[in-house]
Amino acid sequence: MRSVSFPFYKTKAWLDCRAAYLRKVNGLCELCLSHGILKPADIVHHKIHLDDRTARDPAVALNFDNLQALCIECHNSVHYGDGSGAKQKRYQYVDGKLVILGDTPLSCDV
Ligand SMILES: [Zn+2]
Ligand SMILES: [Zn+2]
Repeated sequence: MRSVSFPFYKTKAWLDCRAAYLRKVNGLCELCLSHGILKPADIVHHKIHLDDRTARDPAVALNFDNLQALCIECHNSVHYGDGSGAKQKRYQYVDGKLVILGDTPLSCDV
């Protein structure tokens, strides 16, 4: 278990982008909303996942079209709900801090 520490998530560019995106969706989980459920988003997910290369590409990393505001449950299901055998990676809050449980080279969001 370790904290999300990928430096991208600490950059002002991302924090501004994330805040602006959350304002756009009223801070709600978009997937829940599509089912008529109003639930706060916990995570801003990148549809195209970030890696060393894409995290440096604003067209991927900071593009609203590539973002999706999700609650933890929806985020887990987006990543692992299809049972495609992806390694267990789960997000949860520990002591008020979002952490990733399991084996993760890079986190995709937060
Ligand atoms: Zn949700
Ligand atoms: Zn994600």
